[in-house]
Amino acid sequence: MTILLADAFAPDLPGRLAPFGNVVTDLKQLPEAEVLIVRSKTKVDKAMIDAAPKLKYIIRGGVGVDTIDVEYAKTKNILVDNTPEASSLAVAELAFALMLAMPNHLVQADNSTKEGKWLKKELERTELNGKVLGLVGIGRIAREVASRAKAFGMRVVAYDKYVPSSESAEMMSLDEVYAQADYISLHTPLTEETRGMINSASIAKMKQGVRIINTCRGQVVVEEDLVAALVSGKVAGYAADVFYKEPPADSPLLKAPNVLLTPHIGASTEENLLRLGDSIVARLEKYTASK
Ligand code: NAD
Repeated sequence: MTILLADAFAPDLPGRLAPFGNVVTDLKQLPEAEVLIVRSKTKVDKAMIDAAPKLKYIIRGGVGVDTIDVEYAKTKNILVDNTPEASSLAVAELAFALMLAMPNHLVQADNSTKEGKWLKKELERTELNGKVLGLVGIGRIAREVASRAKAFGMRVVAYDKYVPSSESAEMMSLDEVYAQADYISLHTPLTEETRGMINSASIAKMKQGVRIINTCRGQVVVEEDLVAALVSGKVAGYAADVFYKEPPADSPLLKAPNVLLTPHIGASTEENLLRLGDSIVARLEKYTASK
């Protein structure tokens, strides 16, 4: 069988997949592919599925299948899978890095010091210790963030529509999380319920000077509403790894104050690419055994 690796994975992955079939990396070979393996970059839409008449199995190396037209794949009897177990640590560490970078003004401090400025007074920091972290969603990634936050002396509260209790956080209503949190970190999937959930109405319920970290999906946030809140000072900082449109060429966030942006690198650690490889190999073993 032909296995098409469409996005960037660990360099050893083609070799590890070779025992399962003919491994190719050129999208031109899509018509031959029985297995298509993607990360976030390649969007598997109707046109792509139609161009792959032999396709039987799509694996997304990552959490969630929102980059794949799952309903259409179903009508063609194509199995769709992802590797939700692999990326939690990598994303949690980035969320934490973003949360630390904001109150410590790391980017501004580095830039200004290199420009020959000495902004000792201007760059007064605040501590995470004693602050309240509000998690929206208490899944795998959020739980890793929670344990790190506790080690920094934060109180961790959370809301999850589908998980009533958790050992990782004090569970409460979404409005209570908004009212109490000094930092809000978003960890839901993108669904019709979560799309646009951070908007002017929800921001109005948050604390003055709240900081928001988004490593889940850009479309969970209404970027224009967030920019207005950054300009007014209601939101003191927004750090995001994900955007409404990626890359975010026209996003108003690019010119907004107090934003810290990374190019969707949450899962891109060396260690995680190896873990993704392990998960993909395990899925192909199962797939070939079931044929
Ligand atoms: P998970 O499935 O373990 O956790 C998601 C949690 O969100 C679940 O507990 C679920 O009950 C909850 N949830 C669902 N709908 C909700 C709603 N309406 N309100 C509140 N909570 C809701 O997933 P995870 O592994 O923690 O990943 C979370 C998300 O992070 C993924 O769906 C993906 O979009 C994103 N992600 C981003 C990167 C990156 O590179 N930045 C990498 C991996 C995952």
